Amino acid sequence: MQNNTKPPRKIVIVGGGTAGWMTASLLQHAWNKYGTEITLIESADIDTIGVGEGSTPYLKTFFTKLNIEESEWMPACHATYKCGISFPNWSSDSEYNNYFHPFFSPLDLKSGNALFDNCCIRRRGHPADTHPNDFFVSATLARRQLSPIPKKKMPFIPDYGYHFDAALLGQFLKKRAVSLGITYLVGTIDSVAQHDNGEICGLSSKEHGLLTGDFFIDCSGFSGLLINKALKEKFISFKENLFNDAAVAIPTPIEPNKNIPSETVSKALSNGWMWKIPLVSRYGNGYVYSSKYISAQAAENELRQHLGESAKGMPARHIKMRVGRVEKHWSHNCLAIGLSQGFIEPLEATALMLIQLSIEHFIHNYEKGQHTNKYRPAYNKRINEFFDGVRDYVVTHYKLNQRNDSEYWRANRNNSHISKNLKQLLQVWDDGSDFEALLTKQTKSLVYLRPSWYCILAGMGRFPPVDNPNMVKFSATPADKVRLYCESVSQQFVSHQTQLKRIYGAS
Ligand SMILES: Cc1cc2nc3c(=O)[nH]c(=O)nc-3n(C[C@H](O)[C@H](O)[C@H](O)COP(=O)(O)OP(=O)(O)OC[C@H]3O[C@@H](n4cnc5c(N)ncnc54)[C@H](O)[C@@H]3O)c2cc1C
Repeated sequence: MQNNTKPPRKIVIVGGGTAGWMTASLLQHAWNKYGTEITLIESADIDTIGVGEGSTPYLKTFFTKLNIEESEWMPACHATYKCGISFPNWSSDSEYNNYFHPFFSPLDLKSGNALFDNCCIRRRGHPADTHPNDFFVSATLARRQLSPIPKKKMPFIPDYGYHFDAALLGQFLKKRAVSLGITYLVGTIDSVAQHDNGEICGLSSKEHGLLTGDFFIDCSGFSGLLINKALKEKFISFKENLFNDAAVAIPTPIEPNKNIPSETVSKALSNGWMWKIPLVSRYGNGYVYSSKYISAQAAENELRQHLGESAKGMPARHIKMRVGRVEKHWSHNCLAIGLSQGFIEPLEATALMLIQLSIEHFIHNYEKGQHTNKYRPAYNKRINEFFDGVRDYVVTHYKLNQRNDSEYWRANRNNSHISKNLKQLLQVWDDGSDFEALLTKQTKSLVYLRPSWYCILAGMGRFPPVDNPNMVKFSATPADKVRLYCESVSQQFVSHQTQLKRIYGAS
């Protein structure tokens, strides 16, 4: 292992999807000062995945780091604000028919704690108010179609994410990166040249011959051109944990001048779930399903039926998904980012967050190791923890479902292929013992924090039957009181429509 004072002189990125352009942007930002040359090559014959239109709040830090204002990128990408995700129809019990997974803020500190306390009472079989929709400001903002932006400056605002057009985001980042000096090539890589020790030395294409470099980034999508095909790194499938392996997407028009929702809706269907993502120019919709339980045609029909008239004549795009992750995201002189490194189905819209975390951790570890591979094993371990943590949270939705209308939902509920961490969380929650202590113990591997775990477990009604239904509710803080608080805080926020007009008007 050689000690270098500088990052690689020449980096070659394969793939011009969101992963490729996010990687190029962050590497350029970090290492331009060292004179690192970055080339991105993408194929004209292989399409990008063309979906991926919802984010977590983490994406905000991506734009902040690159000094890109909302008024610059949001209009270019037809973007809207996202206060969280609502989950209708995951249960056939009317009390738990819909719950909201909000993005949090210090505004929720008191009300969130009230929910945690109430859950503690309810887990022991006593009646208490525990529907998470009542306890978080973002849930109220979304319900009232408000933006997460306050009318006047506040000490805290809720975390928020975005919805955006995936293709436009790629174009926006590409234009910016190229203007800042990244070399962009169009060509299809047909072979990978390697040294005897396995390190990659160049990528061949008819269009550009052999493209050499010191470090290579695989953003080639599900094909895993460098990481799987050339370096033969193992792919660990999550198919035993997560059954969905396909999706069908159909856009629908959005009514102009109507208030645009500030939430994603992830509604359970017969053999999976559908997303509905509002952009300023259209809705993005899709059905994520398991091909073992429903055919592509039947899934498309079911999605069209749910979308109604608005989907008439709109094209459907069918997508196969490879769900899982590689064992080593950084191998030899190659880093896999995006769908090539792995994918967890999009229920919580986490893929761009994992892309961003993977690049940022790589830059950090590479620099910490004086630009060597010293921290490669630690890096791979940490990125695997992120993937496995997100997987466990997504699996929880399926494990807790209470639908009985298809074999798919029963099989998900009865699935025993869940991680040790998740088994332990459910066991401790169910037996009424110290859930808080377990959350603290598992903090590093969980990815999702305390409020998210309470929201999903309470929101999906994971409680024992009430021991005496006539008993007066014990709630430490009744829902009515918290609802009033959330309502009054929400008065201080701008409507989503007005905020979008401000942002779009300023462009
Ligand atoms: C159904 C579905 C819904 C999703 N929803 C979300 C969501 O809501 N939120 C979220 O964060 N993420 C979501 N994702 C994930 C998200 O779409 C991806 O993580 C993101 O778009 C990054 O994709 P990518 O750039 O890795 O791959 P791709 O978009 O597939 O790009 C691959 C690139 O590699 C190039 N390429 C491939 N082979 C070669 C070759 N031989 N030579 C040269 N170039 C090559 C292609 O031309 C292309 O440019 C979703 C994914 C799916 C499947």
